[in-house]
Order: sequence, then structure tokens, then C-alpha cells
Amino acid sequence: MHGSPQRLGDAFRVAPGTSVRLATMDPGATLGFDKDAARDRTAADLDRLEVLQETVWAEHRHRILIVLQGIDTAGKDGAIRHLMRAFNAMGVRAVPFGVPVGPELAHDFLWRVHAQVPGDGEIVIFNRSHYEGVLAERIGELVPEATWARRYDAINAFERLLAVEGTTIIKLFLHISPAEQLERLRARLADPAKRWKFRRSDLRDRERWDVAIAAFDDALTRCSTAEAPWYVIPSDHKWFRNLAVGTIVADAIEALQPAFPEPEGLPADLPLS
Ligand code: AMP
Ligand code: MG
Repeated sequence: MHGSPQRLGDAFRVAPGTSVRLATMDPGATLGFDKDAARDRTAADLDRLEVLQETVWAEHRHRILIVLQGIDTAGKDGAIRHLMRAFNAMGVRAVPFGVPVGPELAHDFLWRVHAQVPGDGEIVIFNRSHYEGVLAERIGELVPEATWARRYDAINAFERLLAVEGTTIIKLFLHISPAEQLERLRARLADPAKRWKFRRSDLRDRERWDVAIAAFDDALTRCSTAEAPWYVIPSDHKWFRNLAVGTIVADAIEALQPAFPEPEGLPADLPLS
């Protein structure tokens, strides 16, 4: 299967118009890979990503936005750490979105997000995103239904604007099972190096699981578009998550065919030897 010309990401892309039901999707899937087979491919993808990012930055033409969503412990931080192995800090930013504060509260839900989108040559990774406006805020009942219900259209219009203006958008939903999350929450609390990540709100999606799943299903169903597709990544196995994330991001950037630019103002008579 991994030798097939079909892209691995095709298995995980939510085709526009499909009704997503996470409950029917296996978070433990590995598409026939085992850890050993995944290792080589994952390393090869990191090599591709290194060259691609350098090229995108040099060319200063494309703008790449990677959106990571998923419940707490789904592996958003781990996916960022993985991608950053390939990327140069020059030209790449990771941006976390937490509970809105200060002036963020005084503006519409897209305001703080729009301010952080990538510029020419940049790759920006969102750790959470504008989707919290229809996830955290819906699940936690922080805004009335009338407010979150109209945001799907706003999100699609916003992403269309970005895409039309030259941004490639790759949205990755890291899908883990409740059982795996419980394991990880336990491990988090037991490890002094991970304990600090724990917040009471980590339990919100567990405590309101049906509400949370409905919110995820709706966001994935209503906001997977041709210009900004969602991918649902089986993430119970961290090694498979890294493989899928690396491959999907590399394929998406490669499809843009970035190329190193010619130098500007090169004098014809420069003695080069
Ligand atoms: P973490 O990503 O684990 O550092 O946690 C960030 C927290 O901020 C999570 O509990 C999110 O649900 C929460 N958060 C992010 N965006 C929003 C938002 N728009 N409204 C409410 N909570 C949010
Ligand atoms: Mg957290």
C-alpha cells in the first residue's frame, strides 16, 4: 500500500460535502505500516520538508498555513516538534491560541487569527486556531448558539480570502480515542516534565463528550473545502501521526513547485573564478 502512487493523505482528506462522523473513524489506524516501515519514510519526508521550506523562504512567493486541532493530549505540540525538526527558524513560526484575553475579547473571533497568518515565504503552524470559535466556545457554551452557528460561513469566507490571496491552507485534525487520551492524561500527571501542561479544562471535552464530538463533526463537515481541506489524522500512535503529518505537509508544499529564484542584479562581468 505504501508503494502505491496514491498519496497517503488522500486516505485522510475530508472530501468537501462529506458528512464526517469521527465515531466511525479509527484513531488507531496505521494503513498497514508498522513502526519500522514508518521510520524510513518519516525520515525521508523530513528531508523533503527541509529542502521545501528553504525553497519557499528563498522564493518569497508562497504562504503556507498549517492548522492543528485536536482534543488535549491529541499531539498538537508533538506534531509541531516533529515538523520543526525539518524547518529553519528563519521563515517559520508556531502560534498558539489560548483563551482569548484583553483586546482579543473586544474584537471578532477572527481578528487575532488574521493578524498571525503567514506572509510571503513563511510557513506558520497554528496550535489551535479560529476553529476554537466553533469548538471550545461551542462545547463550553461560552457563546450562544446563534453566535457559533453563523461562524462556519465566516470561517469558510475567511479561508477563501486567504487562499485567493495566495495562502496554501493545510488543516490537520489529530484524532485520538478517549481511552488513549485517558492514558496520556495519566502519563502527563505522573511526569514532572509534563505536569505543567495540565489544566482543568483538559477534561472539558471528556466531560461533554457527545457535545464535543458533535462540534468536531460539524466543523470537519462544514469547513472542509477544496481550497482549505481538513485531514483527519489517526493519532493514537504518535509515530504514525508524525508520518502522516510530515507526508501531507510535504506533498502539499511540493505541489506548489517552489523554486529557488535567480539572484537579482547579477553583473555580467563579475569575475567568478
Ligand atoms: P493549550 O492549547 O493546551 O495550551 O490550551 C489552550 C486552551 O485555550 C484550551 O483549553 C482551549 O480550548 C482554549 N481556547 C482556545 N481558544 C479559545 C477560545 N476562542 N475560546 C475559549 N477557549 C479557547
Ligand atoms: Mg492543553
